[in-house]
This record gives sequence, structure tokens and C-alpha cells, in this order.
Amino acid sequence: MIALTLASQRAACAAGTDLLNDALQRAEAAAGLNALITLDKPAGVATTGGDLAGIPFVHKDLFCTTGQRTTCGSKMLANFVSPYDATIVERLAASGAVSIGKANMDEFAMGSSNENSAFGPVLNPWDTARVPGGSSGGSAAIVAANVVAFATGSDTGGSVRQPAAFCGVTGFKPTYGRVSRFGMVAYASSLDQAGVIARSAADCAEVLQVMAGHDPRDATSVDRPVDDYRAALDRGVRGLRIGLARELFSAGVRDAMQATVHAALRELEAAGAVLVDIDLPTLPLSIPAYYVIAPAEASSNLARYDGVRYGHRAADAKGLRDLYSRSRAEGFGTEVKRRILTGTYVLSSGYYDAYYLRAQQVRRLIANDFARAFADVDLIAGPTTPDVAFKLGEKTADPLAMYAADINTVAVNLAGLPAMSVPAGFIDGLPAGLQLIGKAFDESTLFTAGHALQSRTDWHLALAPGAVR
Ligand code: GLN
Repeated sequence: MIALTLASQRAACAAGTDLLNDALQRAEAAAGLNALITLDKPAGVATTGGDLAGIPFVHKDLFCTTGQRTTCGSKMLANFVSPYDATIVERLAASGAVSIGKANMDEFAMGSSNENSAFGPVLNPWDTARVPGGSSGGSAAIVAANVVAFATGSDTGGSVRQPAAFCGVTGFKPTYGRVSRFGMVAYASSLDQAGVIARSAADCAEVLQVMAGHDPRDATSVDRPVDDYRAALDRGVRGLRIGLARELFSAGVRDAMQATVHAALRELEAAGAVLVDIDLPTLPLSIPAYYVIAPAEASSNLARYDGVRYGHRAADAKGLRDLYSRSRAEGFGTEVKRRILTGTYVLSSGYYDAYYLRAQQVRRLIANDFARAFADVDLIAGPTTPDVAFKLGEKTADPLAMYAADINTVAVNLAGLPAMSVPAGFIDGLPAGLQLIGKAFDESTLFTAGHALQSRTDWHLALAPGAVR
């Protein structure tokens, strides 16, 4: 059996396969992974002639959908049905793609392992004792499990790239502002960006083509023409300068990971790319800066869940204050509460200058480092993660260890850049990911490089033991 791609799906459809029923059967077969929070047979699927006509997929459960509940992995929104569709939900529906369900995720997209979901952890199809990554763990696992050819995700600090790396699939995070955030439940608004997880860079290109573009309903979406991503695929990497950032190959990155990712980069070199060593000196500061800024924004965004307008409401509250505090105490999980407390603290009048302001200054330095590096190179490369997927429960007692493992992904969000994780081989039978980072709004060059690598290698098509065959 082969890995599901857009091409294989179209071929199967032409040969008479009912793609929708096939996907629903696959989802049943993979149910043990707990990758979906909601699965349903869409009513009255219109056969449009759009670019993704008839292709089944799933949305991460933070994109608002009128037809399915949107839980955001939280008890707070366990029964929430949105009165409107997110812009990308509308766009994908208009392309003819068929959503069969909503993917499991860390609560409010806070996490790196999917263990923070109120709906239980997702299991990694490569080894069910291990995490699939997070927060888009369900999206990555459902693609790796060969249930659908693609899934949407969101990436605030790595949540598309890291689970893609852990599950051996391709994850694409566009430039901040390239894809509308309208209807995407907010975590940290200056960092959040919708992305896509699929088998290949080529498939990510096709899906992003549908998702990308200006949206007047999102003031941070950028009014700028969208490149022809498909046209970028076959450009080839001859002469392309790829900067190997020393800080992405730091001491914290396991030796085997460094060697595996170097070997994948040598494939790009063999295809004509030029590898050069570069430095991003302030990258090590990205974890503290991110874990101040993201919780600060989260504490503000999550203030809206008060038990009054929507979301979980405590049953026996005595007065308004009690209603707020009980509803929030009952509706939010531990990690979300930790972030709200941290965020409220760093924004409070006595500590604002020492933490929040300082983190914003560090954010600027990190963005400057990237700008300096991109004066000389077209792409920046390194491992997506310091190690392969860790065991369930391995880091749950130590939030700082969990945060520290995000070291190679969060700087990209602080700088607002596009980046992609592509399968780069295996370490002890578990997938490793190569991260490629691009210049702002230069998604095309990422697709060129990803496709060049995937034309020479087949790591991205390898099927996990837990994949549906
Ligand atoms: N792991 C990071 C966090 O917990 C990133 C999550 C994300 O990108 N949504 O905040």
C-alpha cells in the first residue's frame, strides 16, 4: 500500500474509489490513535470542480466550522459550535476539499506533545508509546496514519513543524500575515499562523495555494499577491545558498539528529545547492522571549472565556465573580492556567518592564539576526527538533523541559518568517525532520527546496507501523 498524496487520491478517484467512504473507513481503522476529536460524514457533499475537488482532509480543531463543533482541545469549548466559518474553512470548502472531522490538539494550542488535550493524548503512528508532537498532534498523526492526504494546523511556536517532524510528514508554516487568522481561535495573536501538514512539499504547495491570500476580516493579513507555488516546485536548487545555522545544531541537539539532518542537506548539495555556515547569535534567547510573549498574549486572548457568552459555565455559581472563577477553574486545564498566570504576571505593572518589554526587545534582536543572515543566504537550515519523538509522560512533570525542546522552532515565529519541516531520515526507526526557514513572503523558495529534496529521497513516503494500509 502507498502513502496517500493528492496525486494518489486523484488516481484512486479516477479508478472508481469513493474517496469519502474510503477516508471514513481509514479513520475508523486508525481510531486507536485518538487523532480526531470529531469525525463525521459530511452531509450533501457538493462535487465542485475546484482545485481540491473531492479530496478528504481534516481541520485542526481550532478552525471555526459551522457544521462541526470547535473544541480547541478544551473542556471550555467542548460543546461549542461556531456561528461562522473561518476564512480558511471557507476557502478549502470552495476548493472542493471535503472535511471529515476535526483533529485533536493541545488545549488552546499550548503544548508540544498533545498531552494537554482535554480529549486525551494522541499516539504517534510510528510508536504508540510516543507522543506525536504538538500542538497540531492530531493533524500530523492523521496524515502519518494514512487516513487523509492533508490536514490543517496552526503554528505559534512550532506546532505545525514539530509534530510533522515527529510523525515523518511535511509541515508548512507560512509567513505571518500570509494566511487569514479569521475564525482561528487565538492563542498568541502576534505569533499564530495557519499552516498545512501533508506528505510532500508539493502537496503543501497545492493546499497553501488555496489557503493563502488577503482577507479584509483579518487586519493582520497582508494585501500582497500570492505566488504561484506550483510553479516554484520544479525550479531546482542549483546555486541556491542554504545557511546552516550553528545555533540550530547546538549542543542540545542529539548527535544522531545532527548527523541525520546533515546527510539530508548533502542531498540538497548534490542537487546543486551551496551550503554555508552562518550564525544566529541571539537564537538561544528565543525560548525565554517566546515563553514570556506567548503567555502574555494568551492571558489577554483567553480573558473572553468567562462562562457568560459561550463556553463552559459552572453550574452552581453564587454571583458574577464566582461564575467567572468557577467557570474558568473548571473549563481550563493545568497548562492553560499556568500560561494565564505567567502571562498576567509578566504584564502586571510592577513586572512589565522587566519581562514583557525585555522580551519584545529580544524579539527584535532575533528578527535582526535573521535579516542579517538572509543578506547572504536564500534559506536557513537545521534540525526541526533536538531529538525524535519522546515517550508519553516523559516530560509532563517538567514544563521547562517541555518548553526547552521548542528551541529550534520558536525563533521563526518571533521573526514572523515562513518555515517548513521535511522528513530527513530515521533514527532508531523514528522520523527526523529537517527545518528550512525562508525570507518573509518567500514561501516559493521553501517549496523549491522541499520538492528538490523529495524528488531525490523517499523518506516522506515511508509508512509508519501504525498507518492504515
Ligand atoms: N510548543 C509551543 C507552545 O506550547 C508552540 C505551540 C504552538 O505552536 N501552538 O506554546
